[in-house]
Amino acid sequence: ALVSPASAKKIPASVTPISRDLYRPSDTLLSEIKALVARNPDRLTMDTVRAGNKGYSAEMLVVTFNHVKKTVHDGSKIKILLSFGQHGRELITSELALSLLYILTEKRKIAGVDLSSFEKILEHLVIKVVPIENFNGRKRVEAGEICDRRNGRGVDLNRNWSVDWGKKEKDYNPFEEDPGTAPFSEPEAQIMQELSKSFKPHIWVNVHSGMEALFMPYDHKNTTPDGAPSHLMRSVLENVNHRNFQDSCLVGSGGGAVGYLAHGTTTDYLYDIAKVPMPFTFEVSSSVVSVATIMNLY
Ligand SMILES: [Zn+2]
Repeated sequence: ALVSPASAKKIPASVTPISRDLYRPSDTLLSEIKALVARNPDRLTMDTVRAGNKGYSAEMLVVTFNHVKKTVHDGSKIKILLSFGQHGRELITSELALSLLYILTEKRKIAGVDLSSFEKILEHLVIKVVPIENFNGRKRVEAGEICDRRNGRGVDLNRNWSVDWGKKEKDYNPFEEDPGTAPFSEPEAQIMQELSKSFKPHIWVNVHSGMEALFMPYDHKNTTPDGAPSHLMRSVLENVNHRNFQDSCLVGSGGGAVGYLAHGTTTDYLYDIAKVPMPFTFEVSSSVVSVATIMNLY
């Protein structure tokens, strides 16, 4: 596999470098996305959002897909937010963000989906894509900390939200899930919270890797929420699982299905506080495959 000279210098000899056949360097990935946006102004726009505190700052690229064809009023469109790369080491998720942006613009092709009905569906959607939520953490991974999932100052961005924040389980490991000094102490979490308020999405998918699973709230308890909206969420997930994955994914609440509880997560906040009707966490690749590919075994 090819490794860029800059990162090769920093990676200790004992660590297998990231396979560049599989994963673009983050700078390349973002440049490719920016070029894609520039080539498709009728569909894509982008913003760079910045936040910071105590000498630490974060920057996030947010790409918006919104078909200019105005037969459908923006106010009646379904708003979807898709975030990738919340955990630094989950490189495959940001590759998926790029693939998705290609599908929305220049490579409009999904197996089993006819192009004209796909285009019709797109006219009804506004989709915001955050390709690399945790850019600073990802930079650390690319500099050799290949198993780190936290942000640039050691905080787990999927533990820094305010619902049930800071509670620690018996097997708590600060190297994996440090919740930060307070809810929303981290600039990255602040930016995402602000997006939840300004964009008010109907659907939010927080894309991770390490398992093959389609999760809904809650993460901090062993149950799913009560009521009809929760049943709707579950049936959406079961349909996706059945149609696309031959029922091979775990489906259910993060806290119930994953085997441990997580506190201060994004989806629990989105559901309970931001009132996003359908907040999901998709785990898009099993640990064996993603670790093996990162470790360059395949
Ligand atoms: Zn993750």
